[in-house]
Amino acid sequence: MIGKSLKIIQEELEQGTITVESMVNMYLDNIERTKDFNAYVEVFKEEALEGARQLDLKIKSSPDQLGELFGAVISIKDNICYNGHIVTAGSKMLDDFEAPYSSTAVERMIQADAIIIGRTNCDEFSMGSTSESSFYGPVKNAVDATCIAGGSSGGAAVSVKQNTCIAALGSDTGGSVRQPASFNGVIGYKPTYGLVSRWGLIAYGSSFDVIGVLSNDIQTIAMITDVISGPDDYDSTAIQDPSPRFTNEKINLKGKKVAYLNELLSHSKLNDSVKNAFFSFTEKLENNEVEVVGEAFEYSDYLVPAYYILCAAEASSNLSRFDGVRYGHRADGKFQDYREMIKQSRTEGFGNEVKKRIILGNYVLSEGHYDAYFTKAMKVRQIIKNAIEDLFLKYDYIVLPTTTTQAWLIGDASVDPVEMYLSDMFTVLANLSGIPAISIPLTNNIESLPLGIQVMAKSRDDTNLLEFVSAINEVIR
Ligand code: GLN
Repeated sequence: MIGKSLKIIQEELEQGTITVESMVNMYLDNIERTKDFNAYVEVFKEEALEGARQLDLKIKSSPDQLGELFGAVISIKDNICYNGHIVTAGSKMLDDFEAPYSSTAVERMIQADAIIIGRTNCDEFSMGSTSESSFYGPVKNAVDATCIAGGSSGGAAVSVKQNTCIAALGSDTGGSVRQPASFNGVIGYKPTYGLVSRWGLIAYGSSFDVIGVLSNDIQTIAMITDVISGPDDYDSTAIQDPSPRFTNEKINLKGKKVAYLNELLSHSKLNDSVKNAFFSFTEKLENNEVEVVGEAFEYSDYLVPAYYILCAAEASSNLSRFDGVRYGHRADGKFQDYREMIKQSRTEGFGNEVKKRIILGNYVLSEGHYDAYFTKAMKVRQIIKNAIEDLFLKYDYIVLPTTTTQAWLIGDASVDPVEMYLSDMFTVLANLSGIPAISIPLTNNIESLPLGIQVMAKSRDDTNLLEFVSAINEVIR
C-alpha cells in the first residue's frame, strides 16, 4: 500500500476491491510490527475499527454522501486535541489530561469521514529536534533504528514511513514537520501561518505554530489541507479568505525562477553530503529549464538566535498555565503555601528542555533585558520578513536543504545543545516569515539515511507551492 495516494484508495474503495476495515487492520498490524520504534503513544484500535466498519456501510449504502477524506486513515501528533482522548504534548505534566474538545483540524477531518488511528510521540511541548525529550521515551528513525527520528513531530514522520497511516498531522514551530520528514524520507508540509486554525493545538510559540501534514504523496497532503484549512471563529489568527483548492494540474516548470541563499549554502555547519545532494537537485531543476540563482542573504546568522529568543519568550508565557491548579500534574504532599505547591508541580511535571526554555523565555522578557533581547529579536524578525518578501518580487520559489546534516545517533552526547539549535537554521526561516514550506525526500546519502530539500513560496501561495512541488517531484528522481 506504500505510495498509494488517497485518490487511488478512494477509487478502490468505490470499486469494492478493498474495504476500509481491511485497510485499518493492515495499518494496525504495521503498528504492532513496528512498535519498538515508539512512534505511537496510544493507538485508537477499537474506535478505528468501528469507524472503518461504519464507513464501509456508508460506501455501500450512500456513496453520494461520502466526505472528501473518506478512506483516509490519519495519525495525529500528541499535541493536537481530540475530544475525549488523552493529549499529553509528550509531557508528564499532561500525562492523564483528557481533551475536552477537538481541535478544528481534527473536527474537520472527522466531518470529512477520515479515521484517526492514534496519537504520535513527540518532543515535550514540541521543544526539540530529535523526539528524545518526550516523557514516553525517544522515537527511533524509521530507516535506521539507532538514529533519532528528528523532531519534534518524530512519531508523525515514522508513522507515515512505517505505513501505519496514509498521512499524519504534525505541528511546525521551527521545522518540526519538515525536519523529521527529511530524516525519515517522507514529505512534510508546513502551511502559511494561519492557513490552518490553531484551535486545539497545544501552544508552544503562538506566532510561529502551525499544524502541518506529512505523507508520501503531495496530492493526499493537498486534499487534507483543503479540508482542515480556512477561517475559524475560534482562532483570530486564522486567515479569513479561503485559499484556492489544489487542482493537480501540471505546472510548467520552464521559466520558473528559483533562488537559494548563498550564505546559508556556504555555512560552516552545512555537511558536505547535504550540500552535494542539494546542488545535484538544483542541477536537475536547471535541466528542466528552471532558472536557479544564488542570492545574497545577509541575515543568515540571525535566523536561529531570533527564532530561539522569540519562541522561548512565547513558550514561557504559554506554559505558565500549567500550574497543577488549572491544568496539569499536581505534586503530592503538604506545602507551606500555594506557591510551593505550584513550584513542586512544575518541577516534577516538566522535563529539562522545557525548563531551559521557560528560564530563557523569562530572562529575555524580564525588565532590563526585554529591549536587549525580545524587542531586538522582534525587529530582526521583521527585517528578515521584509527581505524574504523582497526576494519573492524576483523569484517564484526559494529552495534550501531541509537540514544541515543527516539524522544522528540516539543519545549522541557529542551533540551540544547549541549545535542542535543551529541545525534548525534552514527551517526556522519559514516560521519567522510565516511563509509555506515543504520538505521532499531527495536522496539517501552514503550511509543510506534519507535527506530532504525544502521548497518555499510566498505567504498564502500554498496551492501554487504544492503544485510546483508535485511537478518537480517527478523530475528529480
Ligand atoms: N527544533 C525547534 C525547537 O526546538 C523546532 C521545534 C518545532 O518546530 N516545534 O524549537
